[in-house]
Amino acid sequence: MAVDARSGRILAVGEDDEVRRSGGRDAELVDLRGRTMLPGFIDAHIHLLATAYRAHYIDAAECASEEAVAELVRQRAAQTPPGQWIQGGRWYKDAWPGQRFPSKAALDAAAPGHPVALWSKDGHLLWVNSLALQRAGIDAQTPDPANGAILRDSSGEPNGVLQEEEATNLVYRVIDKSDPVLTHHLVRRSLTDLLRAGITTIHDIEGSDALELFQQLRAEDELGVRVQMILPRQALPELQSLGLRAGFGDDMLRLAGIKIFADGTLGSQTAAMLAGFEGNPGNRGILAIPEATMMEAVSTASELGLSIAIHAIGDRAVQVALNSIERAQQRLSDANQQWVLARLRYRVEHAQLVAPEDLERMRRLGVVASVQPFHAVADRDMAERYWGRRARRAYAYRTMQEMGIPLALGSDAPVETFDPLNILYAAIQRNDPATPERAAWMPEQALPITQALWGYTLGAAYAGGEERDKGSLVPGKLGDAVILREDLLAIESEKLRENGVAATIVGGRIMYGEL
Ligand SMILES: [Zn+2]
Repeated sequence: MAVDARSGRILAVGEDDEVRRSGGRDAELVDLRGRTMLPGFIDAHIHLLATAYRAHYIDAAECASEEAVAELVRQRAAQTPPGQWIQGGRWYKDAWPGQRFPSKAALDAAAPGHPVALWSKDGHLLWVNSLALQRAGIDAQTPDPANGAILRDSSGEPNGVLQEEEATNLVYRVIDKSDPVLTHHLVRRSLTDLLRAGITTIHDIEGSDALELFQQLRAEDELGVRVQMILPRQALPELQSLGLRAGFGDDMLRLAGIKIFADGTLGSQTAAMLAGFEGNPGNRGILAIPEATMMEAVSTASELGLSIAIHAIGDRAVQVALNSIERAQQRLSDANQQWVLARLRYRVEHAQLVAPEDLERMRRLGVVASVQPFHAVADRDMAERYWGRRARRAYAYRTMQEMGIPLALGSDAPVETFDPLNILYAAIQRNDPATPERAAWMPEQALPITQALWGYTLGAAYAGGEERDKGSLVPGKLGDAVILREDLLAIESEKLRENGVAATIVGGRIMYGEL
């Protein structure tokens, strides 16, 4: 492959001689010594700011005792400038010996010079240390709020646990949540992690705070990874008043469109279902938005030239999403706006359970299934518990692919890992790489490696309306590539995850590793 150094685009691909000729006399030659070059991975669904924060937050979910959590805090304190907040959570006292509430004493010993605030797993309790209480102005004289409690020791001193929103808010409101220096630092670190994993483009589903930061990093030439922005539906009026369309921006940072939530999640049983959840027939989940409002938003966005990504997990949510998409497409073609339609992408995010007739409709309407194969293997027990027999039709990636529905693969980080090799493993093995001893889950829905790779490259590029610029190594496209130590198509799939990324190239520049 020859890449033009100035434009960052591919000049030639093919036989050595031909490539050498297009590179010209001054070209720098690199021998990959038998390693494999693929188009850079495109993660079609990620929340990068949240991923950056998550990496920084303490995750106490696996801690078996109060002391174990305190130990994590002690380690974090050693790397954190004094006075800065240490945050995190997911602690679960019912998994600890004695099931007792924790106290500020353990955190004071671990991090005397840092305010600490740790949420319980269910988010209803906040465990803090003395410095955090002091910053919030809470002491023995502070009365309990009307709908909440400040737990106390026998002498009336707050003991470090706050119960329910009105009490937890007393501390939460004084936490420095938007430290720009910290955020900048964390996001840069996560961008480096993406490059290390071979990712050259992300579709970031976040709001104006992320967009602003990406613009700043773009201006400083520190972005490194290309970003397509998918903004919340609530941004529609601003986008409309400015007249911004999909594609606005440049090769590093580009506006794609908006995201609409059609329903909730499987785990919380808020996914919108055509029939009730297993064992709970009265509960059909919830639509996160009235159908009329969704129709209006999808039509408005379409007419403005903005692509639309609809989060839909349950089969009723997918149905409602497709109703809106079908209507919007019809309106555009009635108005002779086919040229707008050709540039727009309609995507259903997750598409975890889809009625058979709606799969057919997705194909007919050209709707992209933006799926995260790691969810299939992480959610398998939950899907069987809440969906019963219906789970056999869930996460039906192979069926979709064979029907001709375009697939775009992604991670949904920070919910799951963003490592493409782990995700590809999940896609082709229908198994969690952490539990290889389990039988594959519905292996008939496993994707062939070539199709999984397509979804991570050209399919994801198509979902972003960038298939002319990205997703394959052909002349004229951007020189975005990943160098793997071995050929993914040749190695056994069990070894796939060990096949590390040797280098990541963006626009012809080596952004990670060495050649
Ligand atoms: Zn997501």
